[in-house]
Amino acid sequence: MEKILQEIRNERKRQDLKFGKRTNDNDPWMEILAEEVGEVANALIDKWDSETEKELIQVAAVCVKWIEHLRGRFHIRSFYQEGK
Ligand SMILES: [Mg+2]
Repeated sequence: MEKILQEIRNERKRQDLKFGKRTNDNDPWMEILAEEVGEVANALIDKWDSETEKELIQVAAVCVKWIEHLRGRFHIRSFYQEGK
């Protein structure tokens, strides 16, 4: 699992470099996520396993970024209390 989490971290950094650090509430988070999920679906249609895995990592990275944005913008605390 740790290897996968590291790949998600690396993808998060890559997305920041590619798209810049999104901090605007008007950023279309759902649109970005839906696009990535659509790319997972396309990879499944093509039965291209390594592409499916790559797109799933990208989906996870977008989810992490969106959560980071929400916590930073609205000072939302983790739903999951640390240590529990
Ligand atoms: Mg993608």
